[in-house]
Amino acid sequence: MSLACYIHVPFCKSICPYCDFCRILYDPKRVDPWLETIQKEIESALSWIRKQDGLRTLYLGGGTPNILSEDQLQTLVSPLIPYLHEDYEFTIECNPEALNEDKIKAMKKLGVNRVSLGVQSFQDDILRKLGRRHTKEMIERAIESLKRNGIENISIDLMYALPFQDQRDLKKDIEEFLKLDIMHLSIYSLILEENSAFGKAHMQPLDEDLEADEYEWIVKTLKEHGFDHYEISSFAKEGAYSKHNLAYWMDEDFIGIGAGASGRFLGARYHNTKDLDTYIRLGPCRTEEKTDGPFEAIMMGLRTSFGVDLKAYEEKYQIDLEKKARPLMKKYEGELMIQEGALKCDERGREKLNSILVDFLDLYA
Ligand code: SF4
Repeated sequence: MSLACYIHVPFCKSICPYCDFCRILYDPKRVDPWLETIQKEIESALSWIRKQDGLRTLYLGGGTPNILSEDQLQTLVSPLIPYLHEDYEFTIECNPEALNEDKIKAMKKLGVNRVSLGVQSFQDDILRKLGRRHTKEMIERAIESLKRNGIENISIDLMYALPFQDQRDLKKDIEEFLKLDIMHLSIYSLILEENSAFGKAHMQPLDEDLEADEYEWIVKTLKEHGFDHYEISSFAKEGAYSKHNLAYWMDEDFIGIGAGASGRFLGARYHNTKDLDTYIRLGPCRTEEKTDGPFEAIMMGLRTSFGVDLKAYEEKYQIDLEKKARPLMKKYEGELMIQEGALKCDERGREKLNSILVDFLDLYA
């Protein structure tokens, strides 16, 4: 079966105060040595890609992948392009301030057909507090330019549950999003990671109940506007689902390339070193982690409206999931159920997914 491939580009022009991802300040002197190492890693992944009948999706995430020049982007992805299937999805995460007409044209030429835009908010004062380098005007210019150059498959990331954002701000952000005629939205609440600048400054999170109210309001509003709430944080119109992320949620193996990337091979997870200097000197330095396949498949599948396919699950793990989940379907009646051959949660079930998963962990202990 063809694969999903993720490439991590760790460079950013500045570090946002909430960020705890694997990222590093852009330093032009480090890009070329990084490129040399990642090319070797890609080269050694090609035999796996050939054996698996090529790539269904390619995803450049970061960091800020569009910080790379047109030539650097081409050097990075050109060995993989011949392996993309006819109906491939090739996504690049972009920050609006680093997108211009020339870069979009170069991306289009490389075969990019989906852009995930790190918008976070449409309000300049909130963007400033988030340490972002773009403005509302830059977002609108970037979207216009993407569409003008034939990249219509655009996803936007928005943040909610920010301590410095009230209900009116959130409403404004969703209204601005709806005006733009974009097919996909991912929403994220602010997580105050210990290692982020906000975490170190002991910023207080929004009250949990308020956060839940905001989430419910976003879900209700987007559904009223024709969006399919197909995964806890993701909404799509007319089937514009993220094919790449579906590979993670549907329990498939995937390749992760670059410092800070993770992948999964024959059900076992691997993690590349997050340290850029180590990566440049010694390569990916992978560590492997045994995973609990049957439980992970449930944990990921129940995030989606498609659920966990019973037949595929039984073939893969020799477990009758309908039978196994029966006591929990009784406990969470109407919220966890079998529908169309899959174990699924409804909207309320997905809101209490953590409790459901704790019960599944007991079942699998
Ligand atoms: S642009 Fe993204 S990856 Fe870079 S610092 Fe900000 S949040 Fe982190």
